[in-house]
Amino acid sequence: VCPTAALTERSYIDEVWSELDNSDKHVVVQTAPAVRVALAEEFGYKPGTISTGKLAGVLKLMGFDAVFDTNFAADLTIMEEATEFIDRLQNDGYMPMLTSCCPGWVKFLEHQFPGLVKMPSSAKSPQQMFGAVAKSYYAEKNNIDPKKMTVVSIMPCLAKKYEAGREELNSSPEFKDVDYVITTRELAKMIKEAGFNFDSIPEMSYENPLGESTGAAAIFGRTGGVAEAALRTAYEWVTKDTLEEVEFEALHGYDSIRIAEVDIKGTIVKIAVAHGLGNVRKLLEDIRDGKINVHLIEVMACPGGCVGGGGQPYHHGNFEIIKNRIEALNNVDRTSKIRKSHDNPSIKKIYEEYLEKPGSEKAHHLLHTHYLQREWL
Ligand code: SF4
Repeated sequence: VCPTAALTERSYIDEVWSELDNSDKHVVVQTAPAVRVALAEEFGYKPGTISTGKLAGVLKLMGFDAVFDTNFAADLTIMEEATEFIDRLQNDGYMPMLTSCCPGWVKFLEHQFPGLVKMPSSAKSPQQMFGAVAKSYYAEKNNIDPKKMTVVSIMPCLAKKYEAGREELNSSPEFKDVDYVITTRELAKMIKEAGFNFDSIPEMSYENPLGESTGAAAIFGRTGGVAEAALRTAYEWVTKDTLEEVEFEALHGYDSIRIAEVDIKGTIVKIAVAHGLGNVRKLLEDIRDGKINVHLIEVMACPGGCVGGGGQPYHHGNFEIIKNRIEALNNVDRTSKIRKSHDNPSIKKIYEEYLEKPGSEKAHHLLHTHYLQREWL
């Protein structure tokens, strides 16, 4: 179920081909974490096949000027979100804090629970953070006029098309941070239209500076992953200790609502994780009525999180397919050399060179937003 205005798929395939043909435009692309574990299904591979290299390779062959990774921006999201969480936790801030990277769920909250709009983190989603730094940091570094840049997103999600158009999520009145959003299914269609044989697409790597990422970013695509990634960073920042065991088992699993407690050196942090909008409604009603007291809540509108998104290859309600995609993302995390967002060298660099520090004025301008109290649907 897509809970936003994007109830039917508005395709931008023609617009993207036309931008790629326009030599006056610098066209960059970002790919969300969940796309790499589902795209291959459109070409007959088993659910959960990881095709990161082919994904980067085919986008380069299609003519994008730079192929970047939304996972970089997921690490950036954790830097901002963990900073905000620690600040709210230690300074009697507004609690609980809700994760805000799922536009389907954010719009649901704005309409259905307008009294709770202060709860979500003000951090933008990885898609929107990517667009903001692509058209500022990357553009300035490479002397590109952001008005002559086109940012394309490959997303597992229909609601991301709507998110890219939200005024409050764009950092300049002169252009959109993300110009076009293409779903995983639409990308498969473009690959077929262009006549590429998926089996023989060469594996390539993402480019930098917006292509390096950690295992923490990969798990953004599954339920429980954003909360776990935030905890990996918050734990080390609060305790100043190295977190040896980075997987928080209590946040894994498939139950529709999970509540876990994590001991951060004497401070017990209570976390709730929910996926699927029906379950989210129940959780929010309990929070509004004071029946549940937690510090951090991760919400994903789709079953299993983004791996089960409305723009992914159809799973026809078969949760085994979603589980295979989740396990594939866990494998990407487990085989990553770096598994904590704050250890990403490119993330350290962007703060040193441009954003100063998490939560800075510049970071707030580019990477944070606010939410609206809307009328009931
Ligand atoms: Fe989009 Fe679903 Fe992911 Fe939310 S959970 S961002 S609606 S794919």
